[in-house]
Amino acid sequence: MSILQKFSGFLLSIFREFPRRHLIVSSALAGCLLALTAYPGKYTEVKRQIAEPVAILIEEPAPAPEAAENSDFDLSWKEQRVASGDNLSTLFQRAKLSPIDVYKVSSSKAGKALRNLYPDETFRFGVNSDGLLAELHYIKSPLESHIFTYKNGSYIAEQKLRQPEVLLSYREGVIKDSLYMSGKQANLPDKLIMELANIFGWDIDFVFDIRRGDSFSLTYEDRYLEGEKLETGNIIAASFTNRGKTYQAVRYTNSEGRSNYYTPEGRSMRKAFLRTPLDIFRISSGFNLRRKHPIHKKIKAHRGVDYAAPRGTPVYSAGDGKVIAAGYSKANGNYVFVQHGQTYTTKYLHLNRKKVRKGQTVRQRQLIGTVGSTGYATGPHLHYEFLVNGVHRNPRTVKLPQSQPIAKAEKAAFLKATKSRLAKLAEYQQPTQLASAQRNNASAN
Ligand SMILES: [Zn+2]
Repeated sequence: MSILQKFSGFLLSIFREFPRRHLIVSSALAGCLLALTAYPGKYTEVKRQIAEPVAILIEEPAPAPEAAENSDFDLSWKEQRVASGDNLSTLFQRAKLSPIDVYKVSSSKAGKALRNLYPDETFRFGVNSDGLLAELHYIKSPLESHIFTYKNGSYIAEQKLRQPEVLLSYREGVIKDSLYMSGKQANLPDKLIMELANIFGWDIDFVFDIRRGDSFSLTYEDRYLEGEKLETGNIIAASFTNRGKTYQAVRYTNSEGRSNYYTPEGRSMRKAFLRTPLDIFRISSGFNLRRKHPIHKKIKAHRGVDYAAPRGTPVYSAGDGKVIAAGYSKANGNYVFVQHGQTYTTKYLHLNRKKVRKGQTVRQRQLIGTVGSTGYATGPHLHYEFLVNGVHRNPRTVKLPQSQPIAKAEKAAFLKATKSRLAKLAEYQQPTQLASAQRNNASAN
């Protein structure tokens, strides 16, 4: 509890503008978070109620450099951070070490741990008074490091792993403008706003369907190391009420170790087609609900839906499939057509750039192009068409294939594992204003 009290103020990422995906990931990895004073209003209240550890794993403090094997040598330490484009040679060079040192370390038995370096990983070089690299600490993350020690003419290595403390957190919010802005107001880390949109992105079109008064709530994991917030983990259970209809999702890891989100009944949240085939955050970060639909309303006239979006916004394949056409015409501009099995075809027009070739296999949510205004287009937008057996259907209302239920063999384990997770979510929802807002919302519809 003391950790929680210490950190009962909300932690918020420092980005002002909506960052790019990779920035979010790297910020989460770097644990680059800023503690803010308590957020005003009900969220503070909620956080206090629910701040309760769900699982505490024993951690062993990692040895400080001094405590390691060569501590009796008087080592001088240098630190180098991996930047993009770095390899072992460039890092050793910056630490004033020779190619021979690189060779000795990398050719050692554990040297293969050094083969794939990633930005923001850290190397600590412990050099003795003879200029010998006596110790090398390769710190991959606060949870994983490799300690190389020089012994009898070669390097031996030891992997150090630490277990974080995992706490369950709760957040809720009501949509006032965009999902992104409302998520921010609820003190939801960017990573989780995106995860929330991904979980419900098969059911809800976050560009066209979202309304003021829609609401969401979720539990998720926060990971702490020695009382410091390390990173935000995964959403555990979530609820989203869109125009009076409530969708629920719960995370479940199956017997093969694969994690996915399911309805409480055990149907996969994942469906054959995404509702919105583009990066919604590039639209909704700036969009205003008072302006209703960011399209010209000619769905029937041109047999598709237009998503007005900034030029360059990523366009995704709505489902797994094969690119049957990728080209240019005077009317369509740059276009990509994707065929999904025998029945379905999706078409993406006016692209600024195409990112796939004809004949290529694509996965759902794979980047296939970027929003542009090529062809007959007055401004940058994605023109999206959905065909069933060659006939145009309105992508916003077309009946889509049902999702897969969880495997029969997993059903009992699923129900057992998810029951308490859903109960926890319901418990947190209960005393809050959101619950009554959802009830009002539901009865009004
Ligand atoms: Zn159009």
